[in-house]
Formats: sequence, structure tokens, C-alpha cells
Amino acid sequence: MTTPSLEQVNAALARVQDPEIKRPITELGMVESVEVTGDGEVTLTVLLTVAGCPLRDTIRRDVTAAVGAVPGVTGVDLTLGVMSSEQRSELQQTLRGGQAQREIPFAQTGSLTRVLAVASGKGGVGKSSVTVNLALALAARGRSVGLIDADIYGHSVPAMLGVADSRPTQVDEMIMPVPTPSGVSVISIGMLKPRRDQVVAWRGPMLDRALVQMLADVYWGDLDVLLLDLPPGTGDIALSLGQHLPNAEVIVVTTPQEAAAEVAERAGTMASMMHQRVVGVIENMSYLPCPHCGPEHRLEVFGSGGGQRVAATLADRFGYDVPLLGEIPLDIGLREGGDAGTPIVVADPASASATALVSIAATLDGRGRGLAGMQLGLTPTSQMGG
Ligand code: ADP
Repeated sequence: MTTPSLEQVNAALARVQDPEIKRPITELGMVESVEVTGDGEVTLTVLLTVAGCPLRDTIRRDVTAAVGAVPGVTGVDLTLGVMSSEQRSELQQTLRGGQAQREIPFAQTGSLTRVLAVASGKGGVGKSSVTVNLALALAARGRSVGLIDADIYGHSVPAMLGVADSRPTQVDEMIMPVPTPSGVSVISIGMLKPRRDQVVAWRGPMLDRALVQMLADVYWGDLDVLLLDLPPGTGDIALSLGQHLPNAEVIVVTTPQEAAAEVAERAGTMASMMHQRVVGVIENMSYLPCPHCGPEHRLEVFGSGGGQRVAATLADRFGYDVPLLGEIPLDIGLREGGDAGTPIVVADPASASATALVSIAATLDGRGRGLAGMQLGLTPTSQMGG
């Protein structure tokens, strides 16, 4: 058998991605040395970004598999090292692509990432569940999706995605979002706390800092869509988001109930005051498909018409079309999926609630990627330039 060439081994390594950064390890300066001996044994050193890298086993497995698959390789002797601080700052330079620190990439003119912030008037209406399922449904449509859990009261998103105990890897000033099996990367405000059980009693400036950190210091890479799970109501986070990302589009989640609809309208109006466009309303917990007669018989547990009412009121107030994007039924499976870390669109895609969520994702995705979808309504002229 012929001895593998160094080029072949390097080509194999170029196909191995860092699981968090999602770029080839060869581009990230992670491959320190490679040597091929006469009898086909490959000795190499790969540098991890930080010593306690939680994904070192994944990297070891992927590198060993890729190199081992090169024809003629008889053995792989892999040493995992750790980057020096100089190497880490080089990596940060590479990732930022020359961009200064603390800039929010999504706020830059020419950003192709669509930012969708999910708001609600009050807690418990299923805003986080909807956000998580929409993220997965968009990812299943081939979009690269990032998810920011900015709900200071709940921060339930990581658990719903099955990564409740994960902590992001920090490479000096840069934070890596936590990858999930579905391909959606996530950062939660809860992950920025020193301890998980700590209560976030932050006010304006602290929350603003946390939001900017999640937008600017996290390496999101090239996203098609960034979803934000906002805290319920019209508080400091919504204000900060409006200031930093006026080009964000807002989705309002409500239940059919009169009282819920009224507070949801307020959340929508807040978005408009921040010059953000409300792209639509989602009614959750719309009805319970009758367990006896079948789905045609809808039990209106929380009343009816809330979603339609919010959509109509906001459209009237803003003077543009605010559609009701969909009605999601009450579904025990949806709750169970969230609790188990396998959301309904993955756990039971044929269910009525998953079908509704997937169809909402398709509507949102309809316009596809690009600036055209973002230049909407009240966007200030500074964002319109090319
Ligand atoms: P919020 O983010 O608005 O506070 P959550 O998404 O955390 O709301 O949902 C609150 C609770 O309601 C969770 O236990 C969730 O699983 C459940 N839930 C949300 N939507 C539905 C639904 N359509 N059917 C059944 N349970 C739901």
C-alpha cells in the first residue's frame, strides 16, 4: 500500500469542523503539526481553544475518524494541546474578520441575518415553546439559526433544547454559543450567571450589558436567522433591543383570552415605538382538540379570538398588515417535548401543534434570506443605505 501524502491528510483535516465555531479546524489555526511516517502512521497535534473544552472528545473522535479514513493510513497518534494566548487572539481576529470588538454584527448595514424577536404581553402563554419550535423548524428548512434566550424571568430555552446544564466555552473575550443536536446554537441569559440557581435581579444597565454581550461577544458565525426569546411585557430588555437592533422584526405571541390579548397589544406597540416591525401574531393554546369527538370539535379552553384581535388592533394602529401567522392548539405532547428537551416539531412532527408551528416557520421563511426582507416600514434611513 502506498504511503498517504501530507496533502491528503491535510485535505481530510480541512473537512473536520470545530463543533462550536462550525468552521474547519485548519482555518482556525487549530492544527499545530502533522507528520506522516513511512509506514502510514500519522502523528499530529491539534490545539483546543481552551483547556477545559467541553467538546474535546468530539474533536478527538472527528479528527481520528477523518485522518483514519485516508487511504494508506495505518494509525493515528493524536495529541490534543491548548492554544497559547497569542494563538487565541489570532483566532479571535480571524473570527471577527477585522471587525472591532463590541460591534453587533446584526446591526451593521448589509447584515444578511434576519433578527426575529418573540414577545408576549405576559408570561406563561408559550412564548419560549413557540420560539424554540420555530428555531428548529427553520433549521429543518436548511437555515442556519441562532437563538438567544433573553427571558430573564424564565430562561427555559436551554432545557427545552436539551442543553440545560451546558455552559458556553469562552475564548478570552469571545463566547461560543452552545451547539445543540438540532443544529441550532443557543445562548441564554441564564448561562451568563455565575451560578445556575442565582436569581437575575438585574436592572436596566446590567440587562443592557447582558444583551449586548449575547449579541456582540458571542461568535454567531454566518446566521440566516437569529431568534430572540424576550421576557414578557414591555421592560428593559425590549427597550435595549429596540435601541441596539431597530431592524429586528417582532412576533407577538398571545393566547385567545381577552386579558392576554390586551397586554399582547401593548408588547406589539412597544416594538413599534422602537421602530421595529411587527411581522405577525401567533395565537397559542388556541383550542383543545376534543379527546372524544376528534379534532373537528375544538374546545375553546381559553376563549377565542385573541390572536385575531391583536393582529387587527396592531394593523389598525400601525397602518400596515399584521397577519395572524397561525393558531397552535393545546397539546400535551408540546409540553412534554419541552420538558424532555425534544421539542414537538422534532418529537412528533405529525401532531397538530407541530404542523401549525412548521407552517408558521414556512410563512416566516417565505421571503428567504437577504436585505429585501428586512427593509420594512418604519426602518430609519440610516439602515437603508448600501
Ligand atoms: P412563556 O415563555 O410564555 O412563559 P412557556 O413556553 O414557558 O411560556 O410555556 C409555559 C408552559 O406551557 C410550559 O410548561 C409549556 O410546555 C406549556 N405550553 C406552551 N404551549 C403549549 C401548548 N400549545 N400546549 C400545551 N402546553 C403548552
